[in-house]
Amino acid sequence: MKKHNYSAGPCVLPQEVFEKSAEAILNFNNSGLSILEISHRSKDFVAVMDEARALALELLGLTGKGYQALFLAGGASLEFLMAPYNLMKENGKAAYLDSGTWASAAIKEAKFFGETVIVASSKEQNYNHVPKGYSVPTDADYFHCTSNNTIFGTQMKEFPNLNMPIVCDMSSDIFSRVIDFSKFDLIYAGAQKNMGPAGTTLVVIKEEILGKNGRTIPSFLDYSKHIKAESMYNTPPVFPVYASLLTLQWLKNLGGIAAIEKINNAKAALIYAEIDRNPLFKGAAVVEDRSTMNATFLLNDEAHAQTFDAMWKAAGISGLPGHRSVGGYRASMYNALPLESVQVLVDVMKELEKSI
Ligand code: PMP
Repeated sequence: MKKHNYSAGPCVLPQEVFEKSAEAILNFNNSGLSILEISHRSKDFVAVMDEARALALELLGLTGKGYQALFLAGGASLEFLMAPYNLMKENGKAAYLDSGTWASAAIKEAKFFGETVIVASSKEQNYNHVPKGYSVPTDADYFHCTSNNTIFGTQMKEFPNLNMPIVCDMSSDIFSRVIDFSKFDLIYAGAQKNMGPAGTTLVVIKEEILGKNGRTIPSFLDYSKHIKAESMYNTPPVFPVYASLLTLQWLKNLGGIAAIEKINNAKAALIYAEIDRNPLFKGAAVVEDRSTMNATFLLNDEAHAQTFDAMWKAAGISGLPGHRSVGGYRASMYNALPLESVQVLVDVMKELEKSI
């Protein structure tokens, strides 16, 4: 039986993506070859890469606006250093919002390249909210933020208006909600939440911001080189890019980001209503910053943990335990998680209440 998969990533993908991916492993495009054994320079795969790059921009509403989409390897973690390498001037300065563990990991890498100003941090409150009311130094080369804090279950609802490039790590909520993506100059996201399997990272760049920081950048870390090579500077992660294309096609057929946002809002409303109603549970993040992707919650009395764990496992739920830095539970509800799976979890929470 297929589980209700609440994994924080890699995570649930649409069933049709699993099926079409499996088919392509056996016989890609009826070619008599597996997608795992073809050249990345073959006509069939170049078509996959071209469509994936174009569709990513189309879904984000960025077609024809001076942006390029790349499918790179190395995870979002490599972007933590590629972003400063490409954008921070020698002896320059970058501004970072410290809203969680991943933001903090990005800050650590930026420090290798120059002065890194933390404009605000919620670390002291174990990142239970997104810092607000900060000011960004006007002489910074760029501002970096994290749209969704996967571990803590908080999400930025607003983004600042600034006279500098805005860089955003959207790994855990890209393609999940309508945002004016043209506000950003560099967006990056590991595929393994809303886009596909692990192994590739979507990087969306406004081309005009590149080549201005005066640094000599090693080829593989230079966004311009990847753009020039049409995301084929070296052998790209062929299969993750293909599965990502299938997921993007699924999203387009569903009606795009606006359509999935409605479903995501319904899922989030359902789980948070139960967390707030059920006297056995409490939310971990402050209400106004709650993420629609990762709902973090705790039992008021840990003594019920064993019973609750046995109940949700028996209901076919997988991947619910929270990250060790928060504890409790984390219901990750990425795009492909059906509303019905959230109902199953909510029913278990109600059952637990009745059983006590
Ligand atoms: N940023 C965010 C917001 C994440 O959730 C993660 C991983 N879950 C990362 C960055 C790191 O991604 P990767 O493992 O692809 O390097």
